[in-house]
Amino acid sequence: MGFRDLRNFNLSMLGKQGWRLQTNQDSLCARVLKGRYYHDGDFLTSTRRKHASQTWKAILAGREVLAQGLIKRVGDGTLTNIWDDRWIPNHFDARPLTPQDGHDVVLVSDLLDPDGRWDGAKIRQSFIPVDAEAILHIPPRPQVTDFWAWEPEKHGFYSVKSAYKMLDRRRIREEVVNTASVSEHDVWKKIWKLKVPPKVCTFWWRVIQEFLPTRQILHKRHIEPVPNCEVCGAQEETIRHVLCECTAARAFWAYAKSLSGVKLLELHPVSWAYDLVDGKIVSGENQTMILSGMYSLWLQRNKWKHGEQTRPTSQAVRWAIDLAYDLWNMSAMVDGAETSSVKGGHTQRWECPPEGWLKCNADGAFYEDQWQGATGAVL
Ligand SMILES: [Zn+2]
Repeated sequence: MGFRDLRNFNLSMLGKQGWRLQTNQDSLCARVLKGRYYHDGDFLTSTRRKHASQTWKAILAGREVLAQGLIKRVGDGTLTNIWDDRWIPNHFDARPLTPQDGHDVVLVSDLLDPDGRWDGAKIRQSFIPVDAEAILHIPPRPQVTDFWAWEPEKHGFYSVKSAYKMLDRRRIREEVVNTASVSEHDVWKKIWKLKVPPKVCTFWWRVIQEFLPTRQILHKRHIEPVPNCEVCGAQEETIRHVLCECTAARAFWAYAKSLSGVKLLELHPVSWAYDLVDGKIVSGENQTMILSGMYSLWLQRNKWKHGEQTRPTSQAVRWAIDLAYDLWNMSAMVDGAETSSVKGGHTQRWECPPEGWLKCNADGAFYEDQWQGATGAVL
């Protein structure tokens, strides 16, 4: 592969020095440096001294690269801090999204039962569902102690090539973020505040990270021989293509517009995925509808690709509209209940029917069906 960016290439090389120091702490070099720069701590947390040598400064620059891809592989869990260490593979920053406040679990071993298996009940109780599922997917290895690995490589050992690729992806993402109307730091918070189901939040995180196996992405990774779209024959099946531009997506959005009036706006070619969560170009119920609709399009695309029966466009659109409607009604009810409990000092409660009567509780939605030109109530 070509190393076009010399600075990132140098950093990747320096990262290798850091990897050696971290994983081979008994080597002569590691012992000398420890004695001089971090005798009372460890390499990853040692601070930069004022009169440090150029070599040490360079190693610290490599350590920054290392820290972005270094991950703890969980064994007995006794050496891994739940909140500080990177330890959950393929998961955001490899740390839980759940805030630490109020949790008494500290080490990963606190989440294991006496046999070294995950304590599912405790994990589901301590973490939000997206964290809990990711943790429960980590295979337990109670026989070994926790050890360091390099996440970008399957074999777990540092390689200059994978570090360079990682830095390159970061550079591209930074360029995108600079174009976008929302900073990367804020985008995660915004995603988790969206009024969409957690699955759609996770999906959107994958869209932003480009962690979806479209043909263009697989082609870039030398997995697919050609990057074209199999549905419409377009030259490249990018994520944006699947969700906005493909014939299937166009039919979806045209139908959605006729049914609900929600229109997919012109989106920025680079920062579109960030802009859609920002709340400036689209917000509220329309934002829920668009993001859920895109999730639905992605599911449809996968079904089609695997030869499974797909839902008709009309059904897929209705699902997204109904979901948006329900979520917004639910949140309005919650807000309303909170307001009434604050202002009126009471909330409405279920009451027993008079003797001799049966009470049937039901929920319902009422909407204007523009497409069929009829109005209907759905129970
Ligand atoms: Zn297409």
